[in-house]
Amino acid sequence: MTIPAEVRQALEAALGVTVVDSRMVYGGDINQAARLTLRDGETVFVKWNPAARPDFFRSEAHGLRELARAGAVRVPVVLAESDSPPFLAMEWIEPSARGRSDPASAERLGRQLALLHNCTADMYGLEQDNYIGSLPQPNSQTRSWVEFFRDQRIGAQMAIARREGQLPPAREAALVRLQEWLPVLLDDAAIRPSLLHGDLWGGNYIIAASGDPVLIDPAVYYGHREIDLAMTELFGGFPPAFHNAYQEICPLDGYEQRRELYQLYPLLVHMNLFGGSYATHVDSVIRRYVG
Ligand code: ADP
Repeated sequence: MTIPAEVRQALEAALGVTVVDSRMVYGGDINQAARLTLRDGETVFVKWNPAARPDFFRSEAHGLRELARAGAVRVPVVLAESDSPPFLAMEWIEPSARGRSDPASAERLGRQLALLHNCTADMYGLEQDNYIGSLPQPNSQTRSWVEFFRDQRIGAQMAIARREGQLPPAREAALVRLQEWLPVLLDDAAIRPSLLHGDLWGGNYIIAASGDPVLIDPAVYYGHREIDLAMTELFGGFPPAFHNAYQEICPLDGYEQRRELYQLYPLLVHMNLFGGSYATHVDSVIRRYVG
């Protein structure tokens, strides 16, 4: 397996330099990826997917630039993106040989995520829709988080679940009940639109050789910051030093009561992508909130 010739040629044309070496990188969920060495000695990370929708990599590139602009946490510099052939090229981040075992790096990630969340906007959402994994993620801007979370996070995934045969009547009724309860469970007046990574599971950060944490593969929008945190706790990979450092900058109040509610969004996404045990987990979270 190697990088398709048309991706390599389009990338060479975009960067104005030829590729002299290419090694596949494994571990992504959706796309294929490689580490390229260019004639000028630079290394580049490129991912591609012939089946990707035209705006797929463009919206990831937009999200990476949005995070970079905030200046709170490092992200790879985007070098080129293309709708056809669909690919995205960015700065290669050399991972630390120590892996994630250094508590100083975890602490830095916690502090920097808090600084990212301190970047706020007037409205929830983003000026464009994007993707979470391979599923579309709508981001129409609203002034109410309750409305945004109800319609564009829970409601949008319910629509996909219906199409995927993952929404039997009992689950649908329970989710509708949960949507109706949201104004009681969430206090719009106490929440601000924070810049979010949007898909912050443990596979979406790298500790670079410099010790810098680097965020990758975002699904960026402005939302309640606790939804990023809830995701860090869903699949693991974020040590206690991360959470402690985060809370030194952004103390939490009542988050534990909302953690599973916010985990419902990535759980619905996983149910829609993979089915199986995620559906059972979805049902148990809904039961916790609406009985
Ligand atoms: P996918 O979009 O398919 O989920 P990812 O963006 O998660 O792909 O990347 C796939 C793999 O490549 C992961 O193991 C990740 O650690 C690694 N990776 C992603 N971006 C970079 C980068 N800029 N530099 C080095 N490695 C990267």
